[in-house]
Amino acid sequence: MNDSTMPPTSASDLASDSPEGSTAPEDPSEPNDEPPPHLLIDLHDALGQRCLKSLVAYEPGDLLCDFAPRRHADSPSRMTVQVAEHHHIELGPTFLELINHSCDPNVFFDTQRWVLVALRPIAPGDELCFFYPSTEWQMASPFECACGSPRCLGRITGAARIARPILAEHRLSQHVQRLLAAAEEADAASASEPGIFAWLVPA
Ligand SMILES: [Zn+2]
Repeated sequence: MNDSTMPPTSASDLASDSPEGSTAPEDPSEPNDEPPPHLLIDLHDALGQRCLKSLVAYEPGDLLCDFAPRRHADSPSRMTVQVAEHHHIELGPTFLELINHSCDPNVFFDTQRWVLVALRPIAPGDELCFFYPSTEWQMASPFECACGSPRCLGRITGAARIARPILAEHRLSQHVQRLLAAAEEADAASASEPGIFAWLVPA
């Protein structure tokens, strides 16, 4: 979600519509809040755009920082993270918006506990990246990924368009897991329906 242009946002509070993630208080901090001493805003080596790096080491499962909704929306935008089926937020603190996508991520936005979690060992100086489809079902702004990982999926559009075996390799938010289950149920139901001409075949 690395973009310096902030679209106008809906300030509607969708807390009552969200089965999860509704209890975090809104983060009152506004843009330009500084990262804590263990995190650093830097320029991406290859892309030249801003990114967020860790200055300390982490092990899988370690918590890097808390986050909270800064604004709520009922549909995705370039700047939002999805936290429930119909609930999208702009991240607070704002420096978390500098965490770019990677197909081989090292952090995860835990939208149940409102914490940023290490997925694998992180060394001082490593850029923090998350797998956008771990929270995003259908993204507002699909893009061609250039993460350079051997696991790179190319065009990133959201979890809805990614094959199940690939998603199974990633940690996914609970709302993405629920949407996947619902999509699989719908697929199974449509597959078991007889075709229209089946009714015309005499018994
Ligand atoms: Zn990639």
